[in-house]
This record gives sequence, structure tokens and C-alpha cells, in this order.
Amino acid sequence: MADDKTTGNVSAGGVDFIREIVMADLAAGNNGGKIITRFPPEPNGYLHIGHSKAICLDFGIASEFGGKCNLRFDDTNPEKEDVEYEQSIINDVRYLGFEPAGIYYASDYFDRMYECAKELIRRGLAYVCDLSADEWKQYLGDLVVPGRESPGRKRTVEENLDLFERMKNGEFADGEKVLRARIDMASPNINMRDPVIYRIRHASHFRHGDKWCIYPMYDYAHPLEDAFEGVTHSFCTLEFEIHRPLYDWVLESLGYKEDARPHQIEFSRLNLSYTVMSKRKLLQLVKEKYVSGWDDPRMPTICGMRRRGVPAAALRRMNRIVGITKYDGVTDVALLEHCVREELNSSCRRYMAVLDPLPVRIVNYPDNGVEPLDAVNNPEDESAGVRKLEFGPELYIERSDFMMEPPKGYFRLSPGSEVRLRYGYYLTCVKANVDADGKVTSLECTIDPESRGGTSPDGRKVKGTIHWVNAATAVKAEIRLYDRLFSVEAPGAGGVDFLTQLNPDSFKKITGYVEPALAEVPTGTAVQFERTGYFAVDPDGCSAAPVFNRTVGLKDAWNKQNKGK
Ligand code: ATP
Ligand code: MG
Repeated sequence: MADDKTTGNVSAGGVDFIREIVMADLAAGNNGGKIITRFPPEPNGYLHIGHSKAICLDFGIASEFGGKCNLRFDDTNPEKEDVEYEQSIINDVRYLGFEPAGIYYASDYFDRMYECAKELIRRGLAYVCDLSADEWKQYLGDLVVPGRESPGRKRTVEENLDLFERMKNGEFADGEKVLRARIDMASPNINMRDPVIYRIRHASHFRHGDKWCIYPMYDYAHPLEDAFEGVTHSFCTLEFEIHRPLYDWVLESLGYKEDARPHQIEFSRLNLSYTVMSKRKLLQLVKEKYVSGWDDPRMPTICGMRRRGVPAAALRRMNRIVGITKYDGVTDVALLEHCVREELNSSCRRYMAVLDPLPVRIVNYPDNGVEPLDAVNNPEDESAGVRKLEFGPELYIERSDFMMEPPKGYFRLSPGSEVRLRYGYYLTCVKANVDADGKVTSLECTIDPESRGGTSPDGRKVKGTIHWVNAATAVKAEIRLYDRLFSVEAPGAGGVDFLTQLNPDSFKKITGYVEPALAEVPTGTAVQFERTGYFAVDPDGCSAAPVFNRTVGLKDAWNKQNKGK
């Protein structure tokens, strides 16, 4: 499957409904044949893997159809937004492989939005309302009872213009007045019952300080932001479907023509098993220190995934497979892990690292002997070449690769048995040293000097091949073993406190030994530890004391489950 940085539908076996709409619009020459999309995050938290679905769609459509996609910060809520989030969002979009055509801020349109609101008032389509929050609820009605008209609805245009200006000038307290659209208090869609379009908030905005004390509501602001930028297709998640009539109303009321204005199209959000994605919950995990930060490698944030070693191409691949539909569902996190393995298998280099070291002394090898052996960097990619590995008389092997009393079918090392050392020699265990508790402390072994490179000297076969590092040159490394953050498929479902469902074994720190070349791998790079898993170099380490994060193990649960499907 080609990775063309689009969500595409290569595997979905057909064009998804959004691409059908886009192609039909292009064919009809709507919007002057232009395709302009936007990704509109609120800068009130870090982006997570759910956002990656929207990013792949917004930027993907633009790149597939010769259009452009803006990054627009939807910063219309002064209280929760922060510049810290803004920079992380830009970094994350770029990490995913996309470059915004422009970076915009909803708050930069506040003057224009204010003028539009005055225009609505002049057209008799908006009015100032003084109902308290409680009264507002009573007036609203419900699904069977139509709403009642607020007394403010009878105000004249002049009165409304005057009051709205005074709201802007700070003459009223928070909640004292609102500006409402004048639509239909009997509408079956409650969103259309004269919705609030401006509210008073005496709060500092992170970009505009105290310039404003009235702030536009999402349903009013969003269509205007789209229209100001010339957006043609405005994609959002399904929960906004019932807001679409209001989106259209705002634009139509202000004179935007049907075939030359943005259209909102909804798709289903991404949900992942074993994962929480609400910003509120993610914030709680960070604030209450259940994780080390937003970029903790167990977090579903883009920055967490990057630190864990998840390549952007794997996220794009997963989104492509999930596809774009109108049906809500939960994606198995094993699919993400599968995509990570597929990407890393083809792209990353293999190295040897021993996570639980058992010392081995080779008794028939010269005490100070050193010998360079050739090792293949990536069997999936010949251009990655070969490197030299140093062999010597003292090695470390994985403790789990030795058994004192092996069961039948155990092909690794045991007293008297023979295995192949990867890229090295055939190795036979002649003695296991044991401490008072019966724990194996070290092994004494011999090699067959004729088997250099791991090839059989006489047709004799060995079934097991194990990895190793040379004790004289290996580098001690901190290895962080990560697993899923939650131990249940749907954390928080059924009203259970999601914090009680954290996986107690989601993080374990161990010390291992890695071949020297691994200490020189740049921070952020993903590698395969042969036979163990995929790991990424963590910024906490340095070449003298490297730190590795386990991205994912080698076994693919998704492949197994989905075989033959
Ligand atoms: P929250 O409700 O947790 O604050 P949000 O969805 O409101 O998150 P925004 O910053 O407003 O977060 O999201 C920006 C864009 O990303 C929106 O268009 C939103 O629909 C989309 N998005 C957010 N979460 C998902 C998801 N899980 N799957 C697909 N798209 C998503
Ligand atoms: Mg939002």
C-alpha cells in the first residue's frame, strides 16, 4: 500500500462518501473548482490519535484534489486556551507529514464577526436577550413542547444595536445578556430555537488580552471562519450533524450563496479500544501524575506516540484502513499496533540488545580475542547495508534463552545443547554456574570455530538462533517497557471511574546491554531489537547512557485474529 500521505481508500475497496461529494463538486464546477479545507483544533490540549483521523482527512483531501488545507486555531473560548498547546499542535501536524497552507486564528476574525452580528441585527435576525440561564431553560421547551419567545425578541433594531454595543463595551456582567439568533422557537431542532450567538465573558484571551469581553459561540463563529477563509468543504465529526442547519442559516442569513459557500460534512470519529481520548480525561491523567506528561509514551497523544516511536506513516496507514464513514464504531488498538509493526518492519534497522542479561564465557576462545563479524542492518531493505559487530570471549545472552531442564521442543540453550549465535558461531553450553538459591549466574560455553557467520561446518543443523552482545563493548542502557495504559477495552464505560482501570503493568524500567552502534542512534529513531521488539531512542538518554522506549513487541495479535477475514 503506497503511503502518499493521504487517507485515501486504497484498502477500503471504493471511494468513501466524502470523496464522492468532493469529486461531484469538482465535476459540477462548484466553488469555482476549488477545494479548500481546514483543520480547526481548539488550543486547549494536545492532539491525540483521534485528531489524526481529522488531520489525515482534511489535509489528505486537499492534497489528493489539488486543493489546500489551513490550520486554524479555534480560539473562541478565552478561559482554557494557551500558547503552549498552539505550538504543540503545529509540531504534531508537521509530524504527521502535513504542511498547512496557512495558519489562522479564529480570534483574528473577532472584528469581522462582530460586524456580521450587527448586520444580523440590522436584518432583524438577531436580538439581545436578558433571560437568566434558568429562565432560558424554561423558555426553550423540549422535544414535544415548543419554546416560548423571549421578551427580548420584540426589541427594535436600534435598541438591539445599542445594547449589543454596550455588551461589547463591558457595561454588563457575565451572563447578564446574550445575543441570540432570531430563528424559530418552535423548531423541532432545538439548536434552531433562537440559539445564543454571543455571550459575555470578562476573561483575558491568550492572544488578544482584554480587548474583548464578548465572545462568539462555536455555531456562529465556525461557519464564518470557514467562509472568511474560502473553505469549500468543512469536515467535522458526527455530533455536529444537528448543528448543520444553524451553520447553513448563519451563512445564508449573511448573503453567502449556496454554490459559493462552505458546506459542513460530518464523519464518524475515531475511537480506539483500551484508550481514552477525551481531553478532559487526558488532562486529568497528566495533572494527577498518572503519566509523566502529555508526551508519556503510553498517552494516545501524537507527541506521546512519537516519543514511543510510532511512525507518522503508521498513523496514516491506520487511518486509511479505518476509512471514512458515518457509522460510529470502536477500532481495535491491535490494528494500530499492526500498522506500527508493518511500517517499522520495512523501515527500521535491526540491532542486538539483551534485556535480561546472563553472562556467558566462551572457554575455547582467546582471552583477549576480538573479531569483527558482519551483521545485516535491515533484511527488508538491502540499501541499509551491513555493519560490524565485535565478537569476544565474554558475552551476554538473554536469560530466557537458557533453561537448566528444558521441556521437549525447547530449541534454545541448555546444558549440552547447541544453538546458533546470530551472525556468530554455533555455541554449546558446557557448564551452568548456579548460586546457593539455584539461580543460574553464568554459563561456560564453547564455540565451533568452523561455524563462523552461523553457517554449519558439516551439515549439522541447529534449530535455535539467539541474540547476544559482546560484554567488553556493550553499553548499559535503560529500557522502558510500555504496555497499554488501561487494562479494559472500554475504559470508563458504564459509569466506572476510568482511573480504577489503569493497567498496573503499563510501565516497567529495566537495565539491559546494547551493542555499541545502538548508543549512537539519534534520539527519536525507531529500531528493532532482534527477537524482542521495536524500540525508540528516548531524549532522556545520551550515548554514554542511552534510554530506549519499547514501541511494540514483535507478535502481531491483529494479524492472527484477522487471518482469513
Ligand atoms: P474534546 O471534545 O475532547 O475537547 P474536540 O473534538 O472538541 O475534543 P478539537 O480541538 O475541537 O477537539 O478538535 C479539532 C478537530 O478534530 C475537530 O474537527 C474534531 O471534530 C476532530 N476530532 C477530535 N477528536 C476526533 C476523533 N476522535 N476522531 C476524529 N476526529 C476528531
Ligand atoms: Mg471542540
